[in-house]
Amino acid sequence: MLQLKQYVKVANLDEAYELNKKKNSVIVGGMHWLKMSKTAYGTAIDLSGLGLDEIVETEEAFEIGCMVSLRQLETHTGLNTYTAGAVREAVKDIVGVQFRNTATVGGSIWGRYGFSDVLTVFLAMDTTVVCHKAGEISLKEFATMKADRDILVKLIVKKKPIQIAYLAQRHARTDFPMLTCAVSCIDGKWAASIGARPSKAMLVADDEMLFAGEMTEEKAKAFGNYVAEKLVFGSNMRGSADYRRQITPVLVKRAIMKAGKEQ
Ligand SMILES: Cc1cc2nc3c(=O)[nH]c(=O)nc-3n(C[C@H](O)[C@H](O)[C@H](O)COP(=O)(O)OP(=O)(O)OC[C@H]3O[C@@H](n4cnc5c(N)ncnc54)[C@H](O)[C@@H]3O)c2cc1C
Repeated sequence: MLQLKQYVKVANLDEAYELNKKKNSVIVGGMHWLKMSKTAYGTAIDLSGLGLDEIVETEEAFEIGCMVSLRQLETHTGLNTYTAGAVREAVKDIVGVQFRNTATVGGSIWGRYGFSDVLTVFLAMDTTVVCHKAGEISLKEFATMKADRDILVKLIVKKKPIQIAYLAQRHARTDFPMLTCAVSCIDGKWAASIGARPSKAMLVADDEMLFAGEMTEEKAKAFGNYVAEKLVFGSNMRGSADYRRQITPVLVKRAIMKAGKEQ
């Protein structure tokens, strides 16, 4: 069973950062993942008093505080208008509404979980992560970094014109995904973020602009094959590497066609 010796609701991020320097301290989000651990922690650091539970929309960006819940992502009109519902689609099958009411963006992105629908969808956008010590880092770089003692403060999604769609393959709704897939087109460049391979989401972009210009079903299929060739797949209890390799082009193609229709 998880054990916490003391609980501190911090007054500011500096206090949280100082407390979290100790190796047996822990930042708590919604605690859904944490509660399954058997670790005995010294100090649980609660950021819920810092006003980081809001999605702030400006002309240029969405700023999403680390204590924003997955349900807020799902129901935010501006974010779902910008993404043509891709964010809602990404989180809607994560357990259930009560769970999503308390699971946080901070815990979801910080964990860099292989199965993460949340990481997958935000990787497909122009997203940066703001950490208290390290400052602003692209999500793409953050996803490859090892967890340290820093604090994830917020995500920033720049409102570049985008075509985007999200699809995932699951054995059953609310189960962990077998494969996650977000495709996007920003500045004429297509990219696909593929997660649950079962390792964490990676972005494959058409850097050589091989698939630029008008997108057709044939081109979408070819891009799907291109994406699958660039990735390494593995097996787990939910599916084999071979199966994942085979469904990747299918999901990429379907998502591209969906992105084309919904903008
Ligand atoms: C049964 C179950 C099923 C799930 N299914 C899915 C799924 O299908 N798809 C999916 O995408 N996700 C899934 N998840 C993951 C879930 O959506 C959350 O990502 C996860 O619970 C973590 O969020 P949390 O708020 O509960 O974080 P917590 O459990 O509180 O924290 C998780 C980790 O992040 C750290 N942390 C939290 N906030 C910060 C911060 N601001 N700065 C630094 N570190 C921080 C904590 O110290 C801890 O190490 C599932 C989780 C569970 C328990």
